[in-house]
Amino acid sequence: MDYLVLSPPVCPPSEPPSGAFILASALSGHGYHTGFLDLSLEFYHRFFNENGDSPGLQRSLDYLIQNATYAPMLHRTAAGAIHRVLKTYTDHHPGWTLTAMDLTPPVPVHQPLAINQLLQSDEPFISLWESTVAKAIQSHRPKKVLVSIAYLSQLPAAISLMHYLRQNGIAYTAGGSLLRSLHATGEGFHLLRQVIDPIDVSNGASLLANMTERDFLSRLAFPQVISEYPYLSGRPVLPLTLSTGCFWSGCLFCPDRDMKYIQLRTDALAQFMSTIPGSIRDQRPVIHLLDSAMPPNRLRAFMPLAKSFRLGFYGFARPERRLTDATFLRELSESGCLMLQLGVESGNDALLNRFNKGIHPKDARRVLQASAEQGIRTYVYLLFGLPGETDMEREDTRQLINDTIDAVDFLNLSIFNLPRHCELSQRADEFNITVDKYAQTSSTIELYRPFTLAGSSESPRKSVRSFIANRFSADPKIRQAVLRTPKWFRAAHLAMMAINGRNEQD
Ligand code: SF4
Repeated sequence: MDYLVLSPPVCPPSEPPSGAFILASALSGHGYHTGFLDLSLEFYHRFFNENGDSPGLQRSLDYLIQNATYAPMLHRTAAGAIHRVLKTYTDHHPGWTLTAMDLTPPVPVHQPLAINQLLQSDEPFISLWESTVAKAIQSHRPKKVLVSIAYLSQLPAAISLMHYLRQNGIAYTAGGSLLRSLHATGEGFHLLRQVIDPIDVSNGASLLANMTERDFLSRLAFPQVISEYPYLSGRPVLPLTLSTGCFWSGCLFCPDRDMKYIQLRTDALAQFMSTIPGSIRDQRPVIHLLDSAMPPNRLRAFMPLAKSFRLGFYGFARPERRLTDATFLRELSESGCLMLQLGVESGNDALLNRFNKGIHPKDARRVLQASAEQGIRTYVYLLFGLPGETDMEREDTRQLINDTIDAVDFLNLSIFNLPRHCELSQRADEFNITVDKYAQTSSTIELYRPFTLAGSSESPRKSVRSFIANRFSADPKIRQAVLRTPKWFRAAHLAMMAINGRNEQD
C-alpha cells in the first residue's frame, strides 16, 4: 500500500469523514494504492459492543443501518436510545463526554497543550490504536501514513494518535481542514505545531511531485476501505464535491473568500462514480456534495451522471433566482436530488445586502416552494445575530419561514460568530463592531473573536438566543419544523427521512 489515510475519532458514525475520504479518493485517482481507515467507526462500534446488553441499543442500531428511509418518530426513538448508551462513556472515563458527533475531554478542547498534558495520565485511546492502527499497518504495510483532522472533536484522539505513531516509529504527516483553517485564518496554529508535527496545509497535492491543488482533484477513485463495521446509515453516504472554495465568494463575514476556487472536472466525477464498488452501488448510495455552495454549471454537469448511476444526492445551494426555474428543479429532482441545504439566512433584504450576501428573500421563498413542489426536501439554514440586526429584521425571518412552512422540512438555526479574519473584521468600525480581546488565554486556538456593538457592553448573542426561544421557535407553525429536525445524525439522515410529498427513490 502506498498511503494509509487515518481519520481519528470522533466524527459522526453515519458517513465517512469528508476531507479524509476525498484525500484518499484523490490519491487513489492518481494511481496510488490508498487505504482509508475511519477510526470513529471503530471507536463507536467497539463502545456499542462493550455495551451490547443495553436496553434497545441493538434494535436502534439495526433500525438506522437497515432502513433506506426513516420515519421521523422512529428515527428519534433510535437516536435517543443510542445516546443514552453514549452518555455512559463518562462512567468509564470520568470527565470525558461522548455524543454521536463530539468527544469532550475534561480540559478545554481549544487548548492543545492542556490536552497533551492530560493524555500523559488519562489516555482513553491506546487500546483502540493497538487493535486497529497497529493491525492495519501490519497487514497493509503502507509507505506513508496520513492523519486527517477536520473537527475539534477529533483533537484529543489525534494528539494521542500522534504519540502512538511516534512511539512506534511510524512516520506520518498530519493535515485536514481544521489545520488548514487555523493556518489560513485562525489563531494558535503554533500551539498545534507543538503537539501535531509534521503538518501539511495543502489539500494533499504537496504529497505528489509537481502537483497543483487543482490537478490533485482532477482524478478521483474509490479508495480501499479498511474498516469492516457498517456506518449507521440505511444507504451508504459518500462524500464528493463539485468545487472547492466558493463561486460567489462575496459575503463580508466569510473567512474562506481567499480560498482558491477550483471546479472539479466532469471526468473526475465520472471516474469516481465508475469506481464505486458493486457491493456499495447495489445499496443505492447517497452522494453528499460538500461544496460551500454548489455551482450551478457544475450541478448541471453532475446531474446526468447521478441519474445514470442511479444515485441519490444532496448539498448546499444558494437560494438564487436561477434556482427558481421549475424546469431545472424538476430535472434536479429526476436526477436523484433528495434534499437541498438552502442558505436562506435572513428574511430581510436590506440586512442581506449590507453583508453582500447576493441573495434575496423573495427568491428564497420561490426556491423553497418550487423545490418542495418537485419533491426535494428542504433543509433551511438561518443565521441570526448579524451585527446590527434589529428585532424587525429578525421578525422578517420568522415571517418568511411562517409563510413558507409547508415547504420547509428541516431547520438549522445558528447564531453569528465573528471570524478572526474576514472583510467584516477589517471594517469593524464601519459596522460599529468592537472586537474584544480574547476572553481566554494565549494557549487557546481560535477561529472567531468575541465582539460587542457600539452602545452595548453585552454580546449580541444573548438577545438572539432569547428571540429564537421566545419568538421564533415558539411560533406554532415553525415549531413543527423545529421538532421534525433531529438533534443527532442530521444532514445525511435528513435526506433519507420520509416526508409527505418528497422523493423516496425506491
Ligand atoms: S456563500 Fe458561503 S462560502 Fe460563499 S462567500 Fe458566502 S459565506 Fe462564504
